Amino acid sequence: MDVDKKTLERMMEGDLKWEELKPIISGRKDQNRFDKIMEILQEKLNWKEKILLPLHEHLYIVAKEGERIVKCDCGFEFGDYQINWKHKCKIRVRDTFESIEKLYPKMMGSDPEWEELREFFCPNCFTLLDVEAVPPGYPIIFNFLPDIDAFYEKWLGRNPPDKE
Ligand SMILES: [Zn+2]
Repeated sequence: MDVDKKTLERMMEGDLKWEELKPIISGRKDQNRFDKIMEILQEKLNWKEKILLPLHEHLYIVAKEGERIVKCDCGFEFGDYQINWKHKCKIRVRDTFESIEKLYPKMMGSDPEWEELREFFCPNCFTLLDVEAVPPGYPIIFNFLPDIDAFYEKWLGRNPPDKE
């Protein structure tokens, strides 16, 4: 199914009605869907580094001077994509009844003896990037380490843009 760029853009903004959206997500993807999506993402950003892969909401793996780094849509650079970007975040830990209860209806929050909430914010734009609900003391979770080369070679049949 060939979907034009304008429609994809509206889809990514969440502006499509279900009748418009359903055939797009359930249909066969057109050959260059990935490229169109990447183009739309790139156009929205105020920086020029080429996106290799969208990593997470607001975060991208980009090519910069021979490196592959994680970059926030605000422009903040987290460094090497193989190192957990969360370590560069501002982190708020909710580990008391009072701080957890603020988020839930009364008596519905978790027990801080068993679980804490960690909120990860971009140190530049302060966007909330991720939340972990983990036992106290649990290591910071590394969400996702993509194999960028294999993705391009096996799925798209070409080299990644930084190795063209
Ligand atoms: Zn940011």
